Amino acid sequence: MIQNEDPVIANSLWSATANPTPDCPELRATVEVDVAIIGAGFTGLSAALYLAKLGQRVVVLEAYTPGWGASGRNGGQVNPGLIENPEHAIAKFGPQMGQRMIKMSGDAAKLVFDLIAQHEIQCDARPVGWLRAAHNPAGLRNLEQKARQWEAHGAIMQRLNATEIAQLMGSEAYIGGFLDPRGGNIHPLNYALGLADAALAAGAQIYGQSEVQTVTQDGDVHLLTTARGSLCARKVLVCTNGYTGDLIPGLRQTVVPIRSVQVATAPLSDNLRATILPGLHAPTDTRRLLSYFRTDAAGRFIMGARGAYTPGATRARLAHARAASAQLFPQLADVKWEYEWGGYIAATADHYPHLHDLGNGIVAGLGYNGRGVALATAMGKVLADWASGMPSRDLVFPVSALRKMPFHSLHRLGVEATVARYKLMDNMGL
Ligand SMILES: Cc1cc2nc3c(=O)[nH]c(=O)nc-3n(C[C@H](O)[C@H](O)[C@H](O)COP(=O)(O)OP(=O)(O)OC[C@H]3O[C@@H](n4cnc5c(N)ncnc54)[C@H](O)[C@@H]3O)c2cc1C
Repeated sequence: MIQNEDPVIANSLWSATANPTPDCPELRATVEVDVAIIGAGFTGLSAALYLAKLGQRVVVLEAYTPGWGASGRNGGQVNPGLIENPEHAIAKFGPQMGQRMIKMSGDAAKLVFDLIAQHEIQCDARPVGWLRAAHNPAGLRNLEQKARQWEAHGAIMQRLNATEIAQLMGSEAYIGGFLDPRGGNIHPLNYALGLADAALAAGAQIYGQSEVQTVTQDGDVHLLTTARGSLCARKVLVCTNGYTGDLIPGLRQTVVPIRSVQVATAPLSDNLRATILPGLHAPTDTRRLLSYFRTDAAGRFIMGARGAYTPGATRARLAHARAASAQLFPQLADVKWEYEWGGYIAATADHYPHLHDLGNGIVAGLGYNGRGVALATAMGKVLADWASGMPSRDLVFPVSALRKMPFHSLHRLGVEATVARYKLMDNMGL
């Protein structure tokens, strides 16, 4: 169970199968460091690891435990790239920065698997590629365009016809697609815990149960306070993504928190297991309300879905995810479902992650739009570069001004309306 969480989304498979959590005591003193990091998800832990390796004195303050947020709850898909295609990034950010972002995001999955190998993180890493499946001809055209654009930037994509994708899926629901060999999948919470172990081993300190309550400036240092301690730091990295509160004025309003949920079966019999995703892939499809699914190391089937904000509506979405699984794989109709859980992703208006310089030595990296396993790890490295003195113009991701979303207070209505519209369009085959 995820501690300190709403019961409707707390019964997590990843928590039930987690490696031991490193000892991260509550902050109960006044500590002075070079860099303070708020939030121990992939972003904060990756930044802490890189900074500690560079010899910086770095402390991570986490409200609960490492990986408590989305990082410990997600689908574990290690997906390279940005949501938007490479040409879009170049048109929006210019050839030089666009190219850097394409490289940074394209290499992000490799970065994850390299970190796992380098630090011997036990997280069931499967670098088997990312399977992208088209549910209709428009979806296939969309994937073809994506594949061509990535190929123009050196990626190698393996096209799959209907027969080939059916073999890899164990389902005939898709008409084609491609395999992006850069991706794969992992046990996300164990990856987060492994990053925490690696950061601690490199010399970082991580305090759990230490929610940052205030950040104030005193000369050229920042004072961060928690319930029982405080931290003085010259630089502060805010890594709170979908759990961003009002600590830094205006930051919460730059992203929309969206609940995402997952359901998992009991371990499937060997016979059943052999019929579903035999190559251990974690596919995503081209529906607007994207389906993503996979198995875990024990052969449980896991299906992801868009969540809702109220317990009743969330339960309905969890039930829908189970029904959708049996539609896709009829052999799952009578299996036992054991887990259901979820968490918050952070969506941005332009679908790109944001790196905000909040002035006076505070930077925030957030807004992965549900694509943060690889990207947040890569963003942590960018934040570490910034905190160790790299000028903004040399970073591989653009620094942008903080811009509040208009009508942010109405975001729940907006998200639900978009979900309803997408569902309708998917049902109509558009
Ligand atoms: C159900 C689900 C499925 C997903 N599936 C995928 C997937 O398959 N592939 C993929 O690439 N992405 C996926 N994502 C998205 C991915 O998990 C996130 O983009 C990524 O984990 C973000 O990492 P992060 O470190 O920025 O934030 P988080 O992991 O959310 O961490 C933020 C942390 O900040 C802490 N915090 C907040 N405020 C404070 C404070 N004041 N003081 C101290 N600590 C604070 C929180 O407790 C939290 O632990 C999914 C997300 C969800 C919820």
